[in-house]
Amino acid sequence: MPVGTLATVKGILPQQLKDVGVQQVLANTYHLALRPGADIVEEMGGLHQFMNWDGPILTDSGGFQVFSLAKMRKLDEKQVVFRSHIDGSVFELSPEKAVRIQEQLGADCIMCLDECPPHDVSPDEMQRAVDLTTRWATRCRDAQQRSDQALFGIVQGGTHQKMRERSAEGLVPLDLPGYAVGGLSVGEDPADMYTTLDFTTPLLPADRPRYLMGVGRPQDLLESVVRGIDLFDCVMPTRNGRNAQAFTSAGPVRLRNQKHQRDPGPLDPECGCLTCTSYSRAYLRHLFIAGEMLGPILLSLHNIAFYQQLLRNLREAIQLNKAAEFKAVQLARWGISN
Ligand SMILES: [Zn+2]
Repeated sequence: MPVGTLATVKGILPQQLKDVGVQQVLANTYHLALRPGADIVEEMGGLHQFMNWDGPILTDSGGFQVFSLAKMRKLDEKQVVFRSHIDGSVFELSPEKAVRIQEQLGADCIMCLDECPPHDVSPDEMQRAVDLTTRWATRCRDAQQRSDQALFGIVQGGTHQKMRERSAEGLVPLDLPGYAVGGLSVGEDPADMYTTLDFTTPLLPADRPRYLMGVGRPQDLLESVVRGIDLFDCVMPTRNGRNAQAFTSAGPVRLRNQKHQRDPGPLDPECGCLTCTSYSRAYLRHLFIAGEMLGPILLSLHNIAFYQQLLRNLREAIQLNKAAEFKAVQLARWGISN
């Protein structure tokens, strides 16, 4: 899922997302509740109509902001209280309110409010966060009034096997339609993330989608899919695109690099996106050097297309029972040891 935190995938039109094969986009509860406000989105007919996207939408619960805005919030059993990052006003988010806001926004997949602790907290602190996340998930499920939204539980527990087991044991009995692995890609070593997935995904029901939140690099997607993950969101395709960094079938490309100045070739000859079929590397570099807004737009679009194509190819490989082989070939092409 491309990330559309504020009900827009930055710089990209919904039709362009569809053209490159995007199925679902992500938007954020915390940010939309502050601006423009869940009431306004609801009044405008819900998120789909508001942002003119008729495909599926998943909204994050605000749980990640419990982590990323740790200095601007207080958390207790009942709720988390934020100081708005916009104007400093108080914003209270309880499990019940997180569900209520997500019902107003009207996404198809909604997330339980969770506590995502830093990966290096003490075992006692990790266990406290895991148990709170379980109690909050129960409250989220009980608060649900709409029956047309799939509520996902979020397994926490950092990189500790015992904690992940404890978290899954609390959440799986809730029989939720999907499960996410949270608390990864928060500063731990990628190898620790893969090991954590090795023991975490088997704890989650195989007949429900497994969603790895906030991940990641193309190699992380490959490594995670072969470990049983189905769904991802990450800002990298768009954020890197805005910063002149492209993902290509031959590995990452930095378009500000002078070597592209007179390059008439496409960004990625294996990509069929609008950017790669219409423009040269020389032109794309020029846009960035000149500070033109079309540069970030074209590169974001290509990066999203690249991620979609990578996962389409991987799905095909899975059907042919060749996922491991596909992963090895890709990593070798990108110069990454397997
Ligand atoms: Zn492309």
